[in-house]
Amino acid sequence: MNFKGKVVIITGGTSGIGKQAAIAFSKQGAKVVTLTVDREEVCKQAIKEIGNEAFYIHCDVSKEEDVKKAIEEVVLKYGRLDCAFNNAGIGPDGVRMPYESLTEISEKTWDLVVDVDMKGVFLCLKYELLQMQKQGFGAIVNTASIGGYKMAPGFAAYGPAKAAVIALTEMAALENATLGIRVNAICPGPTMGTELTKNSLSTNPHEEEMLKEHVIPMKKLATTQEVVNAVLWLSSEEASHTTGQKIFIDGGMHIA
Ligand code: NAD
Repeated sequence: MNFKGKVVIITGGTSGIGKQAAIAFSKQGAKVVTLTVDREEVCKQAIKEIGNEAFYIHCDVSKEEDVKKAIEEVVLKYGRLDCAFNNAGIGPDGVRMPYESLTEISEKTWDLVVDVDMKGVFLCLKYELLQMQKQGFGAIVNTASIGGYKMAPGFAAYGPAKAAVIALTEMAALENATLGIRVNAICPGPTMGTELTKNSLSTNPHEEEMLKEHVIPMKKLATTQEVVNAVLWLSSEEASHTTGQKIFIDGGMHIA
């Protein structure tokens, strides 16, 4: 897959799945811009690893002004936007993933998760699509989750927010189907080595074994590279007739 000279925005591109995607796009020749709220030293280290002219913009995807400005800055610099990977996301308290039911979750936690995981994708789509509609081409991939397809008790805000990402993907794909713009989603299962996973697994030492033994048919967590392979394909010309698709990178969880 060739992304030589393509301009690619990645939200949450300085950590976990997003950083791996940034490295992969960059290796294929893309100019990567990551939109992130990570600390400056984390961002600087990530940019070194991504290479190839990459840079980051501090942007909270749940804030319309931040998203609008960041996308304007990219378009001002490069004059176009070829691909976007709307990937930034959090667990219920910002990093960890405590299990809270609908009757336990506070309004504050609900708002925090829904603002980033759902509204953040809406805001990014809005400003990316406005640019892509002007230029008449573009490919977008949104990070949903297996948790947005199969509701797991205790993921009170995360599950519904990720289900909304699947719905937003379908809405955007349909509204732009004749405009040269494709919009797809990935639904990863538990993925090794990301900050979100590390924090989530650290709250329960038996969680990883339980997932492998009882939840994931292939009995292993995904690697970030396995997730990113789907992102690159969906973003590429090779997927030119694919839109509104949800690809599960979950070791078979969605059929179990
Ligand atoms: P991660 O914590 O390593 O990375 C998340 C990134 O999102 C970070 O760079 C962070 O700065 C950024 N971010 C958080 N809030 C933001 C905001 N308001 N504005 C801009 N950026 C923000 O976690 P990850 O596991 O790589 O998660 C990436 C995506 O994958 C998330 O959407 C997550 O829900 C999804 N996901 C992860 C797993 C998993 O097992 N790790 C499984 C399914 C889906």
